[in-house]
Amino acid sequence: MSDYVFSPEPTQGLPVVGSKSLFPVRRVYCVGRNYAEHAKEMGFTGREDPFFFCKPADALVPVTAGKTGTMPYPRKTSNLHYEMELVVALGSGGRDIPVEQANKCIFGYALGLDMTRRDLQNEAKKQGRPWEVGKGFDHSGPIGPIHPVAATGVISKGSISLHVNGVQKQSSDLTQLIWSIPESISYLSGLFELKAGDLIFTGTPEGVGAVVKGDKMIGRVEGLGEFEVHVV
Ligand code: MN
Repeated sequence: MSDYVFSPEPTQGLPVVGSKSLFPVRRVYCVGRNYAEHAKEMGFTGREDPFFFCKPADALVPVTAGKTGTMPYPRKTSNLHYEMELVVALGSGGRDIPVEQANKCIFGYALGLDMTRRDLQNEAKKQGRPWEVGKGFDHSGPIGPIHPVAATGVISKGSISLHVNGVQKQSSDLTQLIWSIPESISYLSGLFELKAGDLIFTGTPEGVGAVVKGDKMIGRVEGLGEFEVHVV
């Protein structure tokens, strides 16, 4: 017997490598400016405190292993940027999680793209307005399947890259993260109570840029393989 006045949207579920069950997404947190070279290209320097924004869970575009994903070129922008990121999926959470305990919360990892309407984000920055229109739009989060940490081991280093139409645009290493994954989880858990199902996009390295309709993006993180997303 349902108590809803209409049927709620289903929970966003992501494929899990080696499992027939889906990972149920609760919240999607994103870390801003978490690679020094990217912070510099955006006009900032140094190791500032990490900051966070969110995407709605239904803005994710799940990409199945071995399949090509698609995202529509969004409305109201003429400057759609890619940001290739490692995504951490939490299997447990809590408040004020110590850095040394943070890796125990990890269920797995995925490849993700924090797609950004850069023109709208820049306007929001200028006006001191929220970032949602630049970051949280529909289809703004293509994401690959979750690789369980039980299979990958804890990931703290390895290459991360993005190619567009076969040309390398981003290339770095996870060791270049300003705030490591456990540090990001710990800090975030001081601001929000984290729970199983939460995702954290951990930030993008330098080399962000625009894509247009027809472009083919391939993102890679060492140990997680690759995923391909086309802008249509
Ligand atoms: Mn980002």
